[in-house]
Amino acid sequence: MKPFEPDLLFFEPRALEYPLGQEIYQRYKDSGIPISRTTSHNQVRGIPGETELQKYRNAKNTLVIGVRKTLRFDQSKPSAEYAIPLATGCMGHCHYCYLQTTMGNRPYVRAYVNLEEIFAAAKKYIDERAPEITRFEAACTSDPVGIEHITGSLKKAVEFMGEQELGRLRFVTKFGHVDPLLDAKHHGHTRFRFSINTDYVVKYFEPSTSPLNERIEAAGKVAQAGYPLGFIVAPIMIHEGWEEGYEELFRKLRESLPDDALSDLHFELITHRFTKTAKNIIQERYPKTKLNMNEEERQKKWGRYGRSKYVYPKDQMQQLRDHLENVITKYFPASEISYFT
Ligand code: SF4
Repeated sequence: MKPFEPDLLFFEPRALEYPLGQEIYQRYKDSGIPISRTTSHNQVRGIPGETELQKYRNAKNTLVIGVRKTLRFDQSKPSAEYAIPLATGCMGHCHYCYLQTTMGNRPYVRAYVNLEEIFAAAKKYIDERAPEITRFEAACTSDPVGIEHITGSLKKAVEFMGEQELGRLRFVTKFGHVDPLLDAKHHGHTRFRFSINTDYVVKYFEPSTSPLNERIEAAGKVAQAGYPLGFIVAPIMIHEGWEEGYEELFRKLRESLPDDALSDLHFELITHRFTKTAKNIIQERYPKTKLNMNEEERQKKWGRYGRSKYVYPKDQMQQLRDHLENVITKYFPASEISYFT
């Protein structure tokens, strides 16, 4: 799969005052890709499309270069203390993606150029928690590897965190374009994770992302570059042949990973869940989706702020957990399962 290139670009005028804004502008100014101005990255007008669906699809191929004004970081439990904002939005078309609901009517991809300010804010959070380690998640609202060949900002974040005695970075990706990150001076402070799933889930629910074999191949390169490695298996789903599907996934992974990858390997396991709002949006945007969102087959679970979501019932949860833990222990006996949810 080729790395992403936008069909349309927008720049906030202030973004051009930063070196990275200039760099990206120079990269595209003679490319033939239309470049427009936008007063704010939060309100981009003029993305073409006659229907809402066309506008949505065009927005996913639109890159907006802006300045991040809010430097108060969101919390990012359970895998990190804070979310570090390098980008918002993603060009991928995963049907189940939670960005469907969190990004509302702004599904375009935003990259922030004021990296020094973002890193200075991160440093403050690190200092506040000293002598505890502070972990930052860079993939809370985007897949930053997917645009790294354009921005280079993830590499800078990796190297910034490499210099922080008490700072750690982590992110997850469904893209195999990791080459620009392989020579980063990470000093072991960044956990590089890949999102993996059964062939069925990847095939039917993850369009416009790298195929599984490219992600696994990239994971091997990342391990050889000395990064601590991890995998997020999400969303774990019950589908026809799911038991063999997950067994096959871990077997393939074991076969393909170099031995360097095995000493400090972490797995995070997240089962599929959905909200009513998400279901409505997903059905509008991907009307032919095979995603099973039948409330009657799920258990309602109440979360914070009186919101509810539909999760697998207890007995199925247990089946999923037992099976995944078994196959992981079989193929990766020395690995750690960080959580199952
Ligand atoms: Fe969402 Fe990740 Fe898929 Fe992008 S790659 S659409 S962030 S799930």
